[in-house]
Amino acid sequence: MSFFPVIIIGAGAAGLMCAAQAGARGRQVLLLDHANKAGKKILMSGGGRCNFTNMYSEPGNFLSGNPHFCKSALARYTQWDFIELVAKHGVPYHEKKLGQLFCDNKASDILNLLLAECDAAGVDLRLDTQIEKIDKLETGYRLLTSGGSFDCESLVIATGGLSIPTLGATGFGYQVARQFGHELLPTRAGLVPFTITEPQLKELCTELSGTSVEDCLVSCNGQSFKENILFTHRGLSGPAILQISSYWQPGDSVQINLLPHLDLPEWLAEQQRERPNSELKTLLGELFTKKMANLLAEQWFVSKPLKQYTPAELNTVATRLAEWTLVPAGTEGYRTAEVTLGGVDTREVSSKTMESLKSPGLYFIGEVLDVTGHLGGFNFQWAWASAHAAAQFV
Ligand code: FAD
Repeated sequence: MSFFPVIIIGAGAAGLMCAAQAGARGRQVLLLDHANKAGKKILMSGGGRCNFTNMYSEPGNFLSGNPHFCKSALARYTQWDFIELVAKHGVPYHEKKLGQLFCDNKASDILNLLLAECDAAGVDLRLDTQIEKIDKLETGYRLLTSGGSFDCESLVIATGGLSIPTLGATGFGYQVARQFGHELLPTRAGLVPFTITEPQLKELCTELSGTSVEDCLVSCNGQSFKENILFTHRGLSGPAILQISSYWQPGDSVQINLLPHLDLPEWLAEQQRERPNSELKTLLGELFTKKMANLLAEQWFVSKPLKQYTPAELNTVATRLAEWTLVPAGTEGYRTAEVTLGGVDTREVSSKTMESLKSPGLYFIGEVLDVTGHLGGFNFQWAWASAHAAAQFV
């Protein structure tokens, strides 16, 4: 039986950060993971370049049943703190758009930075370790693992959510939470593409698979995002769709304005006056790809010279393009979702320390908690901030 003051389960973004910071405070830390490599999601993130934070991160970018919970941790470890750490390690980065910061080179720059910080802080990292049992002691916890038994004062659960099981995701953190009397909020896939099964729409998506439309306004349940959408052979994806998927529940409809930068009724009337002999198909071809224009003209409208449209017909065209309403059949689920919504109910966790209010010495950080960021570097910022908060107290 070995003793470590602090044991952290999960060597992902939050676990590595917490280990490094607690270690830097002089705490002896054992960091355990069942995977054969630390930080697998970091390596896959941001298309291999890791969107490690967002310059405009603020509490409004996070979904939670308890929206105030994230504020304190985000304020005490901000995007600027992480940017400073990135700069300290000389990792080159750039803003892609909308405040999203990406590595110039590879996501491994961020993982190596965290591993270097853990190394400098003397963290004992053990991979390929299965956690078989956790028991509560009078003070602290006892872990039975495939690598032996360990006692600790503080136990940090940083095992993430259910997204992408092939990258090591499990429901382990939720089981531990339940074991120690925590409530869980229902989990579901977030930042995930929609699937479409309605035959005509499915055909449109399949035919246009790979085509994106820039800066669409996508809305659902009172929330809107203006970003690109992408047709896929299974339905719809792209940043605006991923963002809205976190606000979507099965059965809800989604509204898409394909041309939010145009006042369509006015613009169409103007085109009718100025080029009466042009066909609607030609007009659409100037706004979308030719293939998309042809398909829309076939499926949604009757294409004819503009002069032949009555004002009411032109209005219908405008409405269809600005208020395209569809009901997704579902989402691609945890197989491709970037995050898991729901999880450990934050009403039973201290927002200052991330410590369980049910079981002293037990901490939850990162995605296992019911705090989910928008797309754009916010989920890593939550991992860094919640890890930092816990690291000051473990
Ligand atoms: P994770 O990083 O998932 O780490 C959990 C760790 O726990 C893993 O190492 C896992 O092996 C380990 N573990 C799980 N179960 C057990 C168990 N039973 N025993 C022991 N260990 C266990 N967010 C951004 O902000 N920017 C991006 O660019 C971005 N890109 C992404 C791309 C993809 C493909 C995906 C899937 C996600 C992306 N995200 C991104 C989201 C981000 O990766 C997560 O929100 C973040 O990694 C959560 O950190 P975490 O430490 O809580 O969990």
